[in-house]
Amino acid sequence: MRYALISDIHGNLQALKAVLNALENHQVHQYLCLGDIVGYGANPEECVELVRSLTDKTVAGNHDYAAVGLTDISHFNPYAREAVLWTAKHLSEESKQYLRDLPLLLKAGPFTLVHSTPESPELWNYIFSPQDALAAFSYFEGSICFVAHSHRPMTFIQGPRGLQWDFSDQVQIHFGSRYIINPGSVGQPRDGDPRACFAIYDTEASEVRILRAKYDLPGAQAAIRAAGLPEILAERLQYGE
Ligand code: ZN
Repeated sequence: MRYALISDIHGNLQALKAVLNALENHQVHQYLCLGDIVGYGANPEECVELVRSLTDKTVAGNHDYAAVGLTDISHFNPYAREAVLWTAKHLSEESKQYLRDLPLLLKAGPFTLVHSTPESPELWNYIFSPQDALAAFSYFEGSICFVAHSHRPMTFIQGPRGLQWDFSDQVQIHFGSRYIINPGSVGQPRDGDPRACFAIYDTEASEVRILRAKYDLPGAQAAIRAAGLPEILAERLQYGE
C-alpha cells in the first residue's frame, strides 16, 4: 500500500493542487490528512471540498476547529485570529459541519493520525523535541503515529538505540521500532523551504519519504492580498517560515 500524507494546507489551494499533481505519479492507494485544512490562506472552501473528495481519513487541526468555534482562539496571535474570523465567513455551512465532525484522533489501519499529540489532542501541544516525543510514545498503539502542527517535517524513532531524532527525507521503517512522523506542511512550511511539503508511506518498501513540490507561490500571495488578509501571511510563504 502507498499512503499519501498531507497536512497543514491552510487554505493554500495553489500548494494543495501542486501536491496532488505531484502525487499523481506515485500510485497512491489512500490519502491521509492530518488537519489544518483552513486558516491563513485565501481558499478555505475550495481546500475543504478537495480534501473531502480525496479521503475520509482526516483529523481536525486547531485552525479547523477554531473556524467553527470549537476551540478557544484567545491564545492565537492577532493575525491568526483575524484569519480565523475571515475563514469562518468564507466557508459554506456544509463545510463548517464537515470540520465540526472531524475527529481529533483517528486509527487508520496500522497507524494513528493526530494533529497535535496523541496524549491530549485537544490541548494542541507541539512535538518539537525528543522530550515531547518521549511522552507521546506511551499514548498510541502500533508502530507509527503521524502528527503535524509544527509545520516542520521530522521523525522521532524509538528503537534499539534509544530515542533518535531524524531530519532526513527518507525514513526506513524497521520491525520492532516505533515512529512519530511529521510530514511537514503543504500550505505554510516553516522549515525554511518554501516549497509545499508532504509524505508518502510505502508499506512494501517499508519507508516514508518526505517530498517537496514547487507551486504557484505568487498566486497564493496575490489571493491572500486580494482577500484583505494580513500582509504577513502572504510574505511568510516566500521564506518558508
Ligand atoms: Zn497548522
